[in-house]
Amino acid sequence: MELCKKEDCLGCFACMNACPKGAISVTHDRLGKTIPTVDANKCIYCGACTKACPVLNESEYHITDECYAAWTKNENDRKNCASGGIGTAISRYVIDNDGVVIGTYFDDDAKLIFDYADTPEQLERFKSSKYVQAYIGYSYKKVKEFLRQGRLVLFIATPCQIDGLNHYLGKKYDNLITIDIICHGTPPITYLKEHIKAKCADAKITNVTFRGENDYHLCVYSDEKLIYSMRSDMDEYFMTFQNSSINRDNCYNCNYARHERISDITIGDFWGINREDLKEQYDGKISSIIINTEKGKKLISMLDKYIYMEKWDIDIAYRYNNQLNNPAVPGRYRETFVKNYEKVGFEKAVRKSGVSTAIAIKKAKDSKIAKAVKKVIKK
Ligand SMILES: Cc1cc2nc3c(=O)[nH]c(=O)nc-3n(C[C@H](O)[C@H](O)[C@H](O)COP(=O)(O)OP(=O)(O)OC[C@H]3O[C@@H](n4cnc5c(N)ncnc54)[C@H](O)[C@@H]3O)c2cc1C
Repeated sequence: MELCKKEDCLGCFACMNACPKGAISVTHDRLGKTIPTVDANKCIYCGACTKACPVLNESEYHITDECYAAWTKNENDRKNCASGGIGTAISRYVIDNDGVVIGTYFDDDAKLIFDYADTPEQLERFKSSKYVQAYIGYSYKKVKEFLRQGRLVLFIATPCQIDGLNHYLGKKYDNLITIDIICHGTPPITYLKEHIKAKCADAKITNVTFRGENDYHLCVYSDEKLIYSMRSDMDEYFMTFQNSSINRDNCYNCNYARHERISDITIGDFWGINREDLKEQYDGKISSIIINTEKGKKLISMLDKYIYMEKWDIDIAYRYNNQLNNPAVPGRYRETFVKNYEKVGFEKAVRKSGVSTAIAIKKAKDSKIAKAVKKVIKK
């Protein structure tokens, strides 16, 4: 069976979930991107894989102008969620209503995987953004199982993963809610693993965070102990992620980076908002919520206990959040990085691309400024 072209593959794994014979497995291309491959000996040519592929089939998009500035009413979540804690707040609603949430966390092997949570305790590990591609595995199958049991299911993921689920399911379920996170691209997990190994040697990694309490820091934990913490503009991985130099190739042609959305609700950071225009005074992180479907609208109307929301002009979200308009453009380090990665690995490839020099200059400037400030204070 012929799957979609390798260069077009989103890595959504809808084909692998759809295959009735378990004939599809995952390999990696030279840049670490996950690619499904068919075992010809097991394939029965039923076409389930190609029918479930979002690249080979039309997707259903929704367009709306219903947009809110929002944040969770749960003070603790405000500290350790990515932005306004909306993903977690809606998850809490679902769990309070005996539902189940599908989200991501780092497993014992520092691999970002999807799993489910139906208690508030299990939900803790899903909190916050992980700036790397999450491994879907067979989680669409799990979603279907829960849906068939009649449970309320919330699936939160990047737009391509939501679309993978939509195509895999092939029909609408009243008890499924989908939330996509605004996404400017996901690097393959191999880069992050190599980077952590370089920074933390062979320590057993139990968690990695990018946002939350140490916002915009790459933090690596071993048995709950923080063993590495670096500001985003001083860390080679975080910096190259932020300037879009290490995304998977297909992220630069992302079909989901546009006004039309494929989920019930879209959430992201609300950049460009003028706090003085808020009705409620607030100095924490603010999320944007875009309501795409009637189901999303109904759900949001029930969240007063969980979320503070103010209607906001969607054009502000479009203006300041480019991933609602266009895919990310390859960053300034990408070309050299790609040229070198296969030969020398992540750390050396970023060094060769000039990232380390840029960081060293920034550090030097920072320490000069710090010295000057100290001098002034002394005076
Ligand atoms: C790779 C990536 C790129 C992003 N780029 C942008 C951007 O350009 N503009 C913007 O406004 N926002 C972007 N975001 C979204 C933003 O960082 C927050 O995730 C979003 O605002 C939700 O915050 P929250 O506090 O409501 O979520 P929380 O309450 O902290 O919940 C986060 C939810 O996101 C899920 N999640 C986290 N990481 C991943 C992942 N890698 N794959 C799938 N699911 C994941 C978690 O499982 C959890 O359910 C990006 C997120 C990711 C993961």
